[in-house]
Amino acid sequence: MCSPDQIPDFRIGSGFDVHRIVPGRELILGGVRIPWDRGLLGHSDADVLLHAVMDAILGALSLGDIGHWFPDTDPAFKGAASTALLHAILRSPQLQGWQIVNLDTTLLAEKPKIAPHHEEIRRSLAACLGLPVDRVSVKATTMEKLGLVGREEGMAAQAVVLLRRTG
Ligand code: MG
Repeated sequence: MCSPDQIPDFRIGSGFDVHRIVPGRELILGGVRIPWDRGLLGHSDADVLLHAVMDAILGALSLGDIGHWFPDTDPAFKGAASTALLHAILRSPQLQGWQIVNLDTTLLAEKPKIAPHHEEIRRSLAACLGLPVDRVSVKATTMEKLGLVGREEGMAAQAVVLLRRTG
């Protein structure tokens, strides 16, 4: 066994989130506004994909979750852009000395079709994280009409991120 200070300091984190689909809201995924007749319900802009990404980053460093960082009881975060919440996490003292190595995400949505927006979402995530696009993966799947996603009651997202200590 090597001593703890000899362990390469990489950290992996996973995130998961679900939001309800409702009429009369915009659909924002990975910071990109997607044209659709419905959107996601939430205290912030309900960007389910960015929420999963934030939870993955926080999880990698054992920093809790976004509900802890940005409580939905706090009016300051009502309607907040999730891109702004992500930037607040990335600028926080706890994230200094850490670099994101890569990000892999999966969006679970029955509709709308994600393929036409896939590259824009990927570029948006990469820009938010200050990463080259080839280190950011965005995948999407339906749930074959099964469960809450399949019935178009909600959308879900998963994210896995790897961090490396730089200082
Ligand atoms: Mg959420």
